[in-house]
Amino acid sequence: MIQAVKKLTPMMAQFLKVKGQYPDSLLFYRMGDFYELFFDDAIQASSALGITLTKRGQHAGEDIPMCGVPAHASESYLLKLIRKGFKVAVCEQMESPLDAKKRGPKSVVKREVVRLITPGTLTEESLLDSSSNNFLLAFSEIRSEGAIAWVDMSTGAVATTQCPRSKLLSEISRLSPSELLIIDNSYDDIFELLKETQVSITSLGRSSFESTSAERRLKALYGVTTLDAFGSFSRSEISAMGALIDYLDITQKGQLPFLKTPFNEKNNKILQIDPATRKNLELLRNLQGEKTGTLLSVINKTKTAAGARLLESWVSSPSTDLKVIADRADSVSLFYNNVELLEIVRNILKTTPDLERVLSRLSLDRSGPRDLSAIRDSLINSELLNSFFSGVELPKLLKNAFNTISTFSDIMTTLSASLIEEPPHLIRDGGFIKEGYSKGLDQSRVLRDNSRKIITNLQLNYIKTTSISSLKIKYNKVLGYFIETTSNHAEKMFSSEFSELFIHRQTTANSVRFTTVELSNLETSILNAGNEISTFERDLFKEIRTLVLSKIVDLKNLATMLATVDVLSSLAALARGSNWTRPTIDMSRDFEIIDGRHPVVESSISTLGENQFIANSCNLTADKNTSQIWVLTGPNMSGKSTFLRQNALIAILAQIGSYVPAKEAKIGLLSQVFSRVGASDDLARGRSTFMVEMVETAAILNQADERALVILDEIGRGTATYDGLSIAWATLEHLHNKNKCRALFATHYHELTATSSQLDGVQNATVSVKEWNGEIVFLHTVVKGSADRSYGVQVAKLAGLPKSVIKRAQNILTSLEGTSKNRSESDDLPLFSQTPSNSINAEKKDCLGLQLSDLNPDNLTPKEALQLLYKLKEFYDEDETPT
Ligand code: ATP
Repeated sequence: MIQAVKKLTPMMAQFLKVKGQYPDSLLFYRMGDFYELFFDDAIQASSALGITLTKRGQHAGEDIPMCGVPAHASESYLLKLIRKGFKVAVCEQMESPLDAKKRGPKSVVKREVVRLITPGTLTEESLLDSSSNNFLLAFSEIRSEGAIAWVDMSTGAVATTQCPRSKLLSEISRLSPSELLIIDNSYDDIFELLKETQVSITSLGRSSFESTSAERRLKALYGVTTLDAFGSFSRSEISAMGALIDYLDITQKGQLPFLKTPFNEKNNKILQIDPATRKNLELLRNLQGEKTGTLLSVINKTKTAAGARLLESWVSSPSTDLKVIADRADSVSLFYNNVELLEIVRNILKTTPDLERVLSRLSLDRSGPRDLSAIRDSLINSELLNSFFSGVELPKLLKNAFNTISTFSDIMTTLSASLIEEPPHLIRDGGFIKEGYSKGLDQSRVLRDNSRKIITNLQLNYIKTTSISSLKIKYNKVLGYFIETTSNHAEKMFSSEFSELFIHRQTTANSVRFTTVELSNLETSILNAGNEISTFERDLFKEIRTLVLSKIVDLKNLATMLATVDVLSSLAALARGSNWTRPTIDMSRDFEIIDGRHPVVESSISTLGENQFIANSCNLTADKNTSQIWVLTGPNMSGKSTFLRQNALIAILAQIGSYVPAKEAKIGLLSQVFSRVGASDDLARGRSTFMVEMVETAAILNQADERALVILDEIGRGTATYDGLSIAWATLEHLHNKNKCRALFATHYHELTATSSQLDGVQNATVSVKEWNGEIVFLHTVVKGSADRSYGVQVAKLAGLPKSVIKRAQNILTSLEGTSKNRSESDDLPLFSQTPSNSINAEKKDCLGLQLSDLNPDNLTPKEALQLLYKLKEFYDEDETPT
């Protein structure tokens, strides 16, 4: 975009130099009260932001495109640009124009990029979603051993885990990072792999990932000589963490946020849920990618943003560690069983600020007085919580929750003594330090506040001295304070009587303006007082910030505890309000849910005021190393999919540590959950309906272990009946014989119910309906046994298909069912004995109103023969018409 040119203005030369260092980012170039963008940046930004594109001067004989945004409102523009996938380099003026002039009349104001804003490195409240984490993730591979590391810069959390390339997509769907770092240009297939995800990919040079320097960087950051104290990390994990730190350094221009010590997340401690299952179960996002109608949206009763973020991470990564699950559930039970404590805690949390994000802003020096008051209020609330917890028999997880609170007494005293109740967001707005906290500040304030009084007194004095009653002391930006009289008093003011006292400054059309030595001294001290106040407040802010930062590690831990208490108490409130129960989880192979409910469907039914949700039980309890599978048949719309998903969701909730929507639940720990629905196109990835179905089924059959819960909903329906049935049959057998997992298998292939008599551990269940006056009534009750048919035609009728189509479908169905009843009872695979096309032929004969076999062509007159020919032609033409 930018070519070398001979004649550049000094400013344009500076712009091009800076822009050259940030070719991939839009350059927000500060000019006074505006950020200006030039050249291609201006064209892209004006179109992305919907703002006017203008021009400024010329370059290489062409107009320079330009657009600008006011600096005070820049955050909303930044948000728009970042959401649209841009990176923005913010270039600030590093001196005032006056200082620049001192270096020579043609000097340009010094400017520097102070920050590179990217999707994964945001910290501003207005740019972030308060209830979601904002992860920056790095992927590294050393000798085919892959790993990821991720950081939420707004909270300081850092974690790593092993991640072969084949699992990268799965991890991205679990963590939903907004930005991914990879090594320069080396992974074309990663771009391909991730092209449908929302993640913005940034490639970095090899040096950022080099593991030896990465280790050095990490040791320096944490001030340790070895990383062993934090756990054992593989070289690829260290490399990925090193890349994160390097990138933070580049984007934050060396001002690193406070980062917690890295957490090494072990893969085997997390319930494995692959991307298709996450999508299908609508854990965090619904099928349309929105946050409504999801498991999280229904169970999120947290009172704080930090609590909402923690709950989100629990839902996306349920545990497989019985101890962790039990610790959480014990704490939920504590609140569940102590309503008074529950209410007190939730009331306190309601007014507790987002300590986690506040601390990160503070450590990045992007904070203001409001952040200090947020820390004060968090500490006051923590102390309050601590007082209510004392005397209560606390479960392990909460035992030491607030035991550090006393160590913050000096911070608390300082914050309470220094800050007003509701300080402003910005330091420059001033007035946030309480009266009485600093003597010097108070004196300056008295001087400033008394200035009006002093000026009024001085004015009275001068009126008395001159006997000019209309004399006034005024203020403007150019002259500062001045004495003004109307022109007709000018002579008196200039007279020798007053010429020593009043110094002439300006004459306007109607007035004459003067000053006095006294007035200008007063002005200086008023101005000084204003400056002094700002300096005092700025210094006091710094002092308090330093004091707070000295305890940042403990404060971060306190923030985590506040979020944890919020999640645990919110789960208890949810369990009480929705009549949920505590599940039993152990190492058995049980899966017994009594009267389970689907949390999201139940909640939407109750919101709509429709019928009650019908609870259903499910028992997939299996012996050691055997499989237990339910083949679920039932009419369309009866509730098969709902039943399947509710059992998976109950298991996920249980392994989060939550209560579950059931009367009773006993679950032998799950290692994996798989959920697939037949026939969903993935045209974006160039896969047909059936191909997607088969790829996903293959993934399950290859991966599910004996602790997996597999949910298959109408597998095989994307192809011809016989192919589909055969695939579904063989899949079921594989799950039973090879995967030996617990599974629910919903199908419209009623033939599959025959497997229950052939395979141990396969049982039939069905969702019952009632037929009444030819209409179908959905009972939504799951019972043992199999459905006699799918009632598809009745459901199609309910859906409003034309009557003629329904009638015709009913005829065809009757005919098909007639022929299928003739099939051999001894067939292993109970398929239709007659092809549907044969039966359609029979149907056609009926419709012609005659039986061809009864017809004797010799007895027909030529006219009758011709008529019959017409009739036949008409009928077959109709049949060939595409529907
Ligand atoms: P299809 O075979 O056509 O895919 P299905 O048998 O899988 O249908 P679902 O999609 O699970 O049926 O349920 C259809 C609707 O029935 C749901 O949207 C829900 O409103 C209602 N429903 C399902 N289960 C229940 C239940 N247990 N209690 C009350 N309503 C239910």
